Amino acid sequence: MLTAAALPSFKQCTRCGSTWIDCTDFLSDPSVNLRAYQVSFEELEAGIFLFDHSCRASLSIAVGDFSHLSDGPVFEERAVGTDECPGYCLKRTNFDRCPVRCECAYIREVLQIIKIWPKNAG
Ligand SMILES: [Zn+2]
Repeated sequence: MLTAAALPSFKQCTRCGSTWIDCTDFLSDPSVNLRAYQVSFEELEAGIFLFDHSCRASLSIAVGDFSHLSDGPVFEERAVGTDECPGYCLKRTNFDRCPVRCECAYIREVLQIIKIWPKNAG
């Protein structure tokens, strides 16, 4: 019999101990819901996605663990702080796509993908 520790896991819930083997397993789980995005302007990949688990725990996972989901363009320039920037990244519960050619925009794309990810039935 395998112990939980012997299995590779993507994420473990600190409260109820549920484990998810990979990103797909995690996002397909109907008991997991995207709650917020906490931007890290210093290092975008170190930003945090916050999820609610059905046990009422809040799970935080680094943006870098999901950024492979987007195959869209990544712009080099940042528009943060300019007139163009709608400031979505500063609103933790805003998951809208960003229309601006900005380095931070690909994460908005990842947010969309997470949001519409099909959930397993039951
Ligand atoms: Zn849990």
